[in-house]
Amino acid sequence: MDPSIVIPHLPDCEPMLIGGAWTTGTATERIPVLDPATQEQLTTVVQAGSAEVAAAVEAADTAHRDGRWRGLPPRQRRDVLLRLADLVERDAEQLAVLDTLDNGKAVERARGDVELGLQAIRHFAGTPTRLAGTVHASGPDRHVYSVREPVGVVAAVLPWNFPFMIAAWKLAPALAAGCTVVVKPAEQTPLTALRLAALCLEAGVPEGVVNVLTGDGRTGAELVAHPGVAKVSFTGSTEVGRHIMAAAAPSLKRLTLELGGKSPNIVFADADLDAAVPNAVRAVFGHSGQMCTAGSRLLVERTIVKELLDRLVPAVEALRIGPGLTGGINIGPLVSQEQYDRVTGYVELGRAEGAGVAVGGEPLPGPGWFVPPTVFTEVTPDMRIAREEIFGPVATILPFDSEEEAIALANDTEYGLAAGVWTGSLARAHRTAAALEAGTVWVNTYNEFDPAVAFGGMKQSGLGRDLGDAAVDGFTELKSVTIAL
Ligand code: NAD
Repeated sequence: MDPSIVIPHLPDCEPMLIGGAWTTGTATERIPVLDPATQEQLTTVVQAGSAEVAAAVEAADTAHRDGRWRGLPPRQRRDVLLRLADLVERDAEQLAVLDTLDNGKAVERARGDVELGLQAIRHFAGTPTRLAGTVHASGPDRHVYSVREPVGVVAAVLPWNFPFMIAAWKLAPALAAGCTVVVKPAEQTPLTALRLAALCLEAGVPEGVVNVLTGDGRTGAELVAHPGVAKVSFTGSTEVGRHIMAAAAPSLKRLTLELGGKSPNIVFADADLDAAVPNAVRAVFGHSGQMCTAGSRLLVERTIVKELLDRLVPAVEALRIGPGLTGGINIGPLVSQEQYDRVTGYVELGRAEGAGVAVGGEPLPGPGWFVPPTVFTEVTPDMRIAREEIFGPVATILPFDSEEEAIALANDTEYGLAAGVWTGSLARAHRTAAALEAGTVWVNTYNEFDPAVAFGGMKQSGLGRDLGDAAVDGFTELKSVTIAL
């Protein structure tokens, strides 16, 4: 381990935050929180049940109704969010170490994630004072305007792959819009969402405005079905997204769903391979492939497949695998046994489907859920490894012969989260960006995020957007007022 890293003390059981109080509620069931690099237990969290869900929603609902947050002058809410950003910056290293302990990711990546979360908090601190409405053109005897109001209690249900960053991406615009929130982090990675909530209190967010419930999908399901929740902002799998959409239907809850992907990363023969190859490696193997935007389908113009592989294979072989806290590693362990079984299962499936293995493919000895980076060649578009989200360090290479074929292959998926394009032609960059069915298109770059820029999916990759003005819109209702003068 990097000797400069300080491991924070963790209690036997991490309490939850409900109505400003740290509590384990009346629930008796505990979930172990494991270190994916060692499989040892770090701590436990409460499996929140109906009583805790009801208490958290009630606390958030009371805080919404009495206006203790949305009723503050906008500049005061801005100042609280700016203070929160300063506190996150103060504790950034501790938050990054916690994310690595919890999730397994390389600590350098965890530091980058905390920075991306921090940027979102700073960005959305500017929202309260700028959240303006519209005055409509009307006759002399009418005054007509539209205003944005906070939607009410938000349930923020989080995945395990970016525990801090996605917590911040949801909390910051929700708070900026004036909402109150019940956060439900993933059961595998609850630690930094709890720390972020503690920092919210320290920054001056009033009690009851931010609540955190721990627990697995049972807690998530109870929370999203609760009639007191007005809006669900969810990041996770498409399968659970469908359940949430159904659970939201009886009370017509507002929804933002950030779901899975099988993103194409297209390399044309006119691309600068010096840039494309290292980026393609990061796009799919970064964070051990556990990214919703992973460029897991590498579409390569047939004339350069050999040259690309000659460069890609050594770059993949050079990736360093190890515990995330070691420092200088590229590939940490997968987050859980379940994820390990899933990814190694897909590697076996790829072989059974007849794909070639250019590199990787053999499991690594434990402890720790380590899977080596694997590149499949001779992949055809109908293979399951080319169609299904693997969510691990597995790349599939598909050749194409023309721009039209590349676009058709890229769009031949139920998903539509992100896409990459590598080309030296400005005209082709614009043509392909327009033709790709994806919420985000990166040209000659990949996985770049900016809190001012909306992020989310088309097709079965989701609904609504995180980040950007669209995220704030998603936490508000638009009210139109007509006054007869
Ligand atoms: P998951 O869907 O299994 O779980 C996500 C969260 O939902 C967890 O907190 C879980 O406890 C909760 N949950 C489970 N069942 C539920 C239910 N019935 N009702 C309510 N909540 C429930 O996803 P995961 O395995 O944690 O994350 C991996 C998935 O997330 C991948 O598919 C990945 O692509 C996706 N993801 C998407 C984005 C994006 O922005 N589009 C970002 C990161 C991850």
